[in-house]
Amino acid sequence: AVAVGAASQAPKISSKLPQRRKLSVAVIGAGAGGLTATRELLKEGHQVVVFEQDSYGVGGVWRYLPQTEAEDPLGISPDCTRIHSSMYLSLRTNLPREIMGFLDFPFLPKYGDECRDARRYPDHAEVLAYLQDYALHFNLLPYVRFGRRVTQVAPIHKPTVHPESLAHPLPSKSEFRLPHQWSVTSEAEAGRMTMTDIFDAVVICNGHYFQPKLPLIPGIEKWPGTQLHSHNYRVPQPFADQIVVVIGNSSSGSDISREIATVAKEVHLVGRTWDSGVDLKKPAGPSQNIFLHPMVKLAQANGELLFEGGDTVVANAILYCTGYAFSMPFLETVGVINVDSDFVGRLYQHIFPPQLAPTLSFVGLPFKVIPFPLMQLQSKWIAKALSGKVLLPSTEQMSEDVEEFYKNLEAKGIPKSKVHDLGSCQFEYDNWLADQCGCQAIEDWRIQIYINSSKRKRALPDSYRDEWTDQELHELAIADLNQLQI
Ligand code: FAD
Repeated sequence: AVAVGAASQAPKISSKLPQRRKLSVAVIGAGAGGLTATRELLKEGHQVVVFEQDSYGVGGVWRYLPQTEAEDPLGISPDCTRIHSSMYLSLRTNLPREIMGFLDFPFLPKYGDECRDARRYPDHAEVLAYLQDYALHFNLLPYVRFGRRVTQVAPIHKPTVHPESLAHPLPSKSEFRLPHQWSVTSEAEAGRMTMTDIFDAVVICNGHYFQPKLPLIPGIEKWPGTQLHSHNYRVPQPFADQIVVVIGNSSSGSDISREIATVAKEVHLVGRTWDSGVDLKKPAGPSQNIFLHPMVKLAQANGELLFEGGDTVVANAILYCTGYAFSMPFLETVGVINVDSDFVGRLYQHIFPPQLAPTLSFVGLPFKVIPFPLMQLQSKWIAKALSGKVLLPSTEQMSEDVEEFYKNLEAKGIPKSKVHDLGSCQFEYDNWLADQCGCQAIEDWRIQIYINSSKRKRALPDSYRDEWTDQELHELAIADLNQLQI
């Protein structure tokens, strides 16, 4: 797993700046990340405009839509109309709600409203309702321009109106000049009503669960069956009585294969790696019709799929649960940022490109984490770095830190797809951010519940959402959250 960058000597709260900078800031996206960024920026006194391509509401990926990209079920055509949400109808959270919520706005059950789901692992509609509650409670909606898709974010090189806004001057060697302002071009649906606005800073919160990533399978172009990515999966019925190969055994693959197995004849679940205790020879699932396999080696024109190890199956459909690519087609990378399908590089602490800090930042890139609290802490740091309450290290120091981070990855042979995988150090990262901002560390119960629930999720994929063994910790968390003043 990836370590947090060294970043040890970063200066923290500044007491030297008598006046706080109040900047105009564009936030791209009104999902969980964009909402918490907006709230933290407003708290610091910045002027915020949120651009949200969805015309109907906040919540991002949690706004379930029954429609799919039916004419492009693999999400590979550049011309097809895109749907942002990747939720399926039956989806329930894979984290207990008490650890999932923002740090100061508990995600507790709302009783008395029949539409709300009070379960510990609620459905997607409950998460959307929580995000809507958050936006209403903190009066964020007036700052959102709905139905505006950002098509370009570009730096403007001209004298700044905020000469004090540079955290630190650039090293003289560098030829790249820090942009003092940013132009943000957006359009209303169907490419109409294009407009360009100028901002002092941009915070990118556009999510990374909407652009399907696909494996390369030799011979797949001749394979005759149906193929789709989990981004376009909604309900299991289309797979009734079929033989389905589900590729990818992490959260979505595990859940969706079990759901499809309730209607399909056979489900063949394919994983790159399997936990050591898993017996690939034994059928799995309540109906014992899920068969586990290593990777697919070859697809043939007669419908056959050949797995590593030599087994074969003739299948009707392949469902790819193979994850998502990072995608920011609107961003002018000015030779400084690298938006690769596997990562966004090279960023200081997964947030700032050193040469453009603090005026360009990214919220929510890390994965294998509890996203909402992490994004809230990132947003606090960004908002305070922009106002000058927190000082960032010099551009040179940040660049050195980033180089060190990438060298470390290379030395350990960690692939680039794991640059933002904070699986083993998310709480260290959270607490580093909290420390920078002068706020409290992540609660111990949040960490313990996360560790317990992750273990149970792997061991008991069919039942972990409804049966648990950490009732005491759960009650401790609820008692703690109930004390929060919101
Ligand atoms: P998003 O929610 O994707 O929001 C991005 C927003 O940006 C969207 O509203 C989008 O319309 C907008 N946008 C994008 N491009 C543009 C543009 N060019 N112009 C204007 N607007 C734009 N997390 C958990 O905590 N618990 C779970 O149980 C859990 N389950 C998940 C299950 C699935 C199937 C998926 C896909 C994710 C799950 N997650 C879960 C992770 C989830 O993605 C995060 O919780 C979180 O919602 C991410 O928020 P975000 O703001 O980063 O991105």
